[in-house]
Amino acid sequence: MTNPLEESPIEPIAAADPSAIEATSPETPAPPDRYECRSCGYVYEPAKGDERRQVAPNTPFESLPETWRCPVCGVKKYQFNNIGPAGKASGFDENLGYGIGVNALTPGAKNLLIFSVLGLGILLLLSFYGLS
Ligand SMILES: [Zn+2]
Repeated sequence: MTNPLEESPIEPIAAADPSAIEATSPETPAPPDRYECRSCGYVYEPAKGDERRQVAPNTPFESLPETWRCPVCGVKKYQFNNIGPAGKASGFDENLGYGIGVNALTPGAKNLLIFSVLGLGILLLLSFYGLS
Protein backbone atom coordinates (compact mmCIF):
# COMPACT_ATOMS: atom_id res chain seq x y z
CA MET A 1 0.00 0.00 0.00
CA THR A 2 1.56 3.25 -1.12
CA ASN A 3 1.20 6.53 0.60
CA PRO A 4 -0.44 8.92 -1.89
CA LEU A 5 1.61 11.78 -0.43
CA GLU A 6 4.82 10.09 -1.58
CA GLU A 7 3.64 10.14 -5.16
CA SER A 8 3.31 13.90 -5.14
CA PRO A 9 6.69 15.22 -4.08
CA ILE A 10 5.67 18.78 -4.88
CA GLU A 11 5.08 20.62 -1.66
CA PRO A 12 1.75 22.37 -1.41
CA ILE A 13 2.34 26.04 -2.00
CA ALA A 14 2.12 27.86 1.29
CA ALA A 15 -0.70 30.33 1.49
CA ALA A 16 0.57 33.70 0.47
CA ASP A 17 1.27 35.87 3.46
CA PRO A 18 -0.10 39.32 2.59
CA SER A 19 2.17 41.00 5.13
CA ALA A 20 5.20 39.52 3.39
CA ILE A 21 4.07 41.00 0.09
CA GLU A 22 3.56 44.43 1.59
CA ALA A 23 7.00 44.29 3.19
CA THR A 24 8.69 44.29 -0.21
CA SER A 25 8.66 47.93 -1.17
CA PRO A 26 7.98 48.77 -4.82
CA GLU A 27 10.83 51.27 -4.86
CA THR A 28 12.99 51.18 -7.94
CA PRO A 29 16.65 50.44 -7.24
CA ALA A 30 18.83 53.51 -7.05
CA PRO A 31 20.66 54.28 -10.27
CA PRO A 32 24.36 53.39 -10.14
CA ASP A 33 26.80 56.16 -9.28
CA ARG A 34 28.82 57.87 -11.97
CA TYR A 35 32.54 58.41 -11.56
CA GLU A 36 34.60 61.29 -12.85
CA CYS A 37 38.25 61.04 -13.78
CA ARG A 38 40.21 63.42 -11.58
CA SER A 39 42.88 63.62 -14.22
CA CYS A 40 40.95 64.54 -17.35
CA GLY A 41 37.32 64.96 -16.33
CA TYR A 42 36.04 61.93 -18.22
CA VAL A 43 32.82 60.68 -16.63
CA TYR A 44 32.16 56.96 -16.52
CA GLU A 45 28.44 56.45 -17.15
CA PRO A 46 27.35 53.04 -15.79
CA ALA A 47 24.30 53.11 -18.07
CA LYS A 48 26.55 53.34 -21.13
CA GLY A 49 29.50 51.23 -20.03
CA ASP A 50 32.72 51.61 -21.98
CA GLU A 51 32.58 50.38 -25.56
CA ARG A 52 36.29 50.77 -26.14
CA ARG A 53 37.15 48.36 -23.34
CA GLN A 54 34.24 45.97 -23.86
CA VAL A 55 32.44 47.06 -20.72
CA ALA A 56 28.76 46.25 -21.14
CA PRO A 57 26.17 48.94 -20.48
CA ASN A 58 24.72 48.99 -16.93
CA THR A 59 28.02 47.90 -15.41
CA PRO A 60 28.50 49.74 -12.11
CA PHE A 61 31.88 51.36 -11.64
CA GLU A 62 32.53 49.09 -8.67
CA SER A 63 32.22 46.06 -10.97
CA LEU A 64 34.85 47.25 -13.42
CA PRO A 65 37.98 45.09 -13.44
CA GLU A 66 40.95 46.48 -11.54
CA THR A 67 42.77 46.59 -14.85
CA TRP A 68 40.24 49.05 -16.21
CA ARG A 69 41.73 52.45 -17.04
CA CYS A 70 40.29 55.79 -18.00
CA PRO A 71 39.60 55.48 -21.74
CA VAL A 72 40.74 59.07 -22.27
CA CYS A 73 43.92 59.48 -20.24
CA GLY A 74 44.61 55.95 -18.95
CA VAL A 75 44.66 56.50 -15.18
CA LYS A 76 43.56 53.72 -12.84
CA LYS A 77 40.23 53.34 -11.08
CA TYR A 78 41.32 54.93 -7.82
CA GLN A 79 41.84 58.20 -9.66
CA PHE A 80 38.09 58.48 -10.13
CA ASN A 81 35.72 60.42 -7.90
CA ASN A 82 32.18 59.29 -7.15
CA ILE A 83 29.95 62.09 -8.44
CA GLY A 84 26.64 60.36 -7.71
CA PRO A 85 23.94 58.94 -9.97
CA ALA A 86 22.88 60.71 -13.13
CA GLY A 87 19.89 62.99 -13.30
CA LYS A 88 19.57 63.54 -9.59
CA ALA A 89 19.41 66.93 -7.90
CA SER A 90 22.30 67.40 -5.49
CA GLY A 91 21.33 67.36 -1.85
CA PHE A 92 18.26 65.26 -2.53
CA ASP A 93 19.50 62.34 -0.43
CA GLU A 94 20.57 64.60 2.39
CA ASN A 95 17.12 66.16 2.67
CA LEU A 96 15.36 62.82 2.91
CA GLY A 97 14.53 61.82 6.44
CA TYR A 98 14.82 65.30 7.89
CA GLY A 99 11.96 67.08 9.60
CA ILE A 100 9.04 64.82 10.39
CA GLY A 101 9.58 62.68 7.32
CA VAL A 102 7.44 64.85 5.06
CA ASN A 103 10.35 65.11 2.66
CA ALA A 104 10.26 61.37 2.16
CA LEU A 105 6.66 61.52 0.97
CA THR A 106 5.82 61.54 -2.69
CA PRO A 107 4.47 64.86 -3.99
CA GLY A 108 1.02 63.30 -4.21
CA ALA A 109 1.11 62.14 -0.62
CA LYS A 110 2.38 65.55 0.40
CA ASN A 111 -0.54 67.27 -1.32
CA LEU A 112 -2.95 64.87 0.31
CA LEU A 113 -1.46 65.67 3.70
CA ILE A 114 -1.63 69.41 3.10
CA PHE A 115 -5.20 69.31 1.86
CA SER A 116 -6.38 67.05 4.65
CA VAL A 117 -4.85 69.45 7.18
CA LEU A 118 -6.51 72.38 5.42
CA GLY A 119 -9.80 70.51 5.33
CA LEU A 120 -9.62 69.77 9.05
CA GLY A 121 -8.92 73.45 9.74
CA ILE A 122 -11.93 74.51 7.69
CA LEU A 123 -14.13 71.96 9.45
CA LEU A 124 -12.91 73.30 12.78
CA LEU A 125 -13.76 76.87 11.75
CA LEU A 126 -17.19 75.80 10.52
CA SER A 127 -17.90 74.01 13.77
CA PHE A 128 -17.11 77.19 15.68
CA TYR A 129 -19.54 79.12 13.51
CA GLY A 130 -22.11 76.41 14.03
CA LEU A 131 -21.80 76.73 17.81
CA SER A 132 -22.25 80.49 17.95
ZN1 LIG B 1 41.00 60.38 -17.51
